[in-house]
Amino acid sequence: MPPIPGSGLAKGLAVTLRTMTRKTVTEQYPDAQPELPPRTRGVIGLFEENCTVCMLCARECPDWCIYIDSHKETVPPAVEGGRERSHNVLDRFAIDFSLCMYCGICIEVCPFDALFWSPEFEYAETDIRELTHERDKLREWMWTVPSPPALDPAAEDPKELTAARKTADKLSAAQETAAQEAAAQAAATQEPPAGGPAAGDPSAPAPGPKATPDAPGNGPGNGPGNGPGNGPGNSPGNDPGEEPTA
Ligand code: SF4
Ligand code: SF4
Repeated sequence: MPPIPGSGLAKGLAVTLRTMTRKTVTEQYPDAQPELPPRTRGVIGLFEENCTVCMLCARECPDWCIYIDSHKETVPPAVEGGRERSHNVLDRFAIDFSLCMYCGICIEVCPFDALFWSPEFEYAETDIRELTHERDKLREWMWTVPSPPALDPAAEDPKELTAARKTADKLSAAQETAAQEAAAQAAATQEPPAGGPAAGDPSAPAPGPKATPDAPGNGPGNGPGNGPGNGPGNSPGNDPGEEPTA
């Protein structure tokens, strides 16, 4: 059956009318920023404090686009007679994003959580050499890495958190015991001797000089006499062991 003249035009107009009534899906970039999924592979950030220069990422990268330079430094022994230790110091860490295929292997294999995906994608350059991002640039990307999603409320606590909680509980229990022991010791030192007045008792006699009759002598005595007319003296002086008279 021959086609009806004008049917093609009608079909085309029908498609146009149908799509005109649908919600648009076109992103008006760059006027409007796209809403990207949180795990978008935009660029790689480096948290170099965690990097031990183990070179795993550079070895596993299928494109060989990670460049790492480092040197060794020796650290003096922590205790006398101990061994010197050596550790790697990072000199250069760069990723060539003109070669990178965003496979994520480097991030997966890093054993020390030093590499992260950032959703940032606006780093196009007119010079391809500018797409090799050195460590400073990779660190800047680090600050654009989104926080990890919250844990499922029904999920078990991570092992690290459980261990940290146990340690904190032990520490607070030890501190509490030490405080209780210190309080008990302080109370024991303030207790009065058996039969004696309690410390701080206002009815207790004020402490004064104790008589020491058996002492070998508290002074030279009253002297040979108390004054003229009394003769050679009322007393020859107190016994060396006698308590001096006032
Ligand atoms: S994402 Fe893949 S290609 Fe890119 S640097 Fe990492 S391992 Fe290499
Ligand atoms: S795998 Fe991780 S720790 Fe090892 S060199 Fe790469 S970024 Fe550093």
